[in-house]
Amino acid sequence: MTERFTGSFTQQEPIPDTGIEAALAVLKHGRLHRYNTVEGEVAEADLLEQEFAALMGAKYCLAVASGGYAMATALRACGIGPGDQVLSNAFTLAPVPGAIASVGATPVFIEVTQDLTIDLADLAAKADQAKVLLLSHMRGHIADMDALMALCNERGITVIEDCAHTMGAKWNGTWSGRHGVLGCYSCQTYKHVNSGEGGFLVGDDPKLMARATMLSGSYMMYGRHSAAPAPEVFDDIRLETPNISGRMDNLRAAILRPQLRDLPRQCARWNDLYRAVEDGLAQTPGLYLPHRPEAEDYVMSSFQFLLLDWDAVAIRKVIAGCLNRGVELKWFGADDPVAFTSKYDSWRYANPQPMPQTDRVLHGVLDMRLPLTFSVEDCAVIARIIRDEVGRAYQMAAE
Ligand SMILES: *Cc1c(COP(=O)(O)O)cnc(C)c1O
Repeated sequence: MTERFTGSFTQQEPIPDTGIEAALAVLKHGRLHRYNTVEGEVAEADLLEQEFAALMGAKYCLAVASGGYAMATALRACGIGPGDQVLSNAFTLAPVPGAIASVGATPVFIEVTQDLTIDLADLAAKADQAKVLLLSHMRGHIADMDALMALCNERGITVIEDCAHTMGAKWNGTWSGRHGVLGCYSCQTYKHVNSGEGGFLVGDDPKLMARATMLSGSYMMYGRHSAAPAPEVFDDIRLETPNISGRMDNLRAAILRPQLRDLPRQCARWNDLYRAVEDGLAQTPGLYLPHRPEAEDYVMSSFQFLLLDWDAVAIRKVIAGCLNRGVELKWFGADDPVAFTSKYDSWRYANPQPMPQTDRVLHGVLDMRLPLTFSVEDCAVIARIIRDEVGRAYQMAAE
């Protein structure tokens, strides 16, 4: 009998009951805007920022409208503007080069390794071309952050981290997002907490965070941000910083607060799913699994494997075979972008230059989500199906 999988790769868990109750309370009182509070009330958005700052051990936190907005705001707060160049990963998703383009800057793409992290040798080679690195921890794969930060410190490069896929992860005991000057997170449905849309910025630098707060559209209400720098830090900044509205509202904040409390438990559940697929695919001929270093404390809400140097026909055979059995794989080697999956050479506004190493890796990268509605047993089934289809195509190619 041919085994099939019937789960949905896009179905997340429901919002926890405590989040639904808190959301209903906000809807009932009607004060959805973060600055609309009554005497003695602390807005849900403000509480959310205090709680995320505490969780990340950050001095400051700002909740915003999306992860993309968080990154653009981080770049602006660091003084990046029209005509500037920004170092960034070639292997990432569209919101990253989009954030760079939104401030009028241009990305300088850095190659990816076959373990799906930024190539530090290529970063060193291109370090002179920009003052800022927007580092994307794409799909939860964390580069050697000790080496990366040493390199960037030595070359005078400011690091902004895109932690859309690493909320709750650590490198060498330090939270992802706490290595660079600013960490950016997304609360979009497919990330580690879900408010539909939303994002965070965290950091310890008072001037950067004061600028980010003004940028986010705080008018002259920055004194109402408990997780922002002291009011005197805003003295000059408040009149020099444009308002580019992208605030978090109390409804989303109410949904998010209980999810933050659950984050460590949810992260452990994602990793159980990840390891079930990883175990099931270990030692599959022709299939490469990214190496996970000891220092990396990952949170894998998705799974990637590589069919390195396979020809496109054989890869398409694997994708079709898996899909036929209910397993949806996204391919980073397709010529044209599909749905959420795009790659550097399709971001034409960024004038991408050819990147041979990245082309080789992306041609082989297959990707799938692991929503928490899956069980460990589901993941074992998924792994058996992939293993079977990869084996079949590999054998055919060898004949
Ligand atoms: C989702 C995502 C973001 C942020 O996206 P928003 O949809 O704007 O919240 C940033 N980087 C990567 C790699 C992402 O996948």
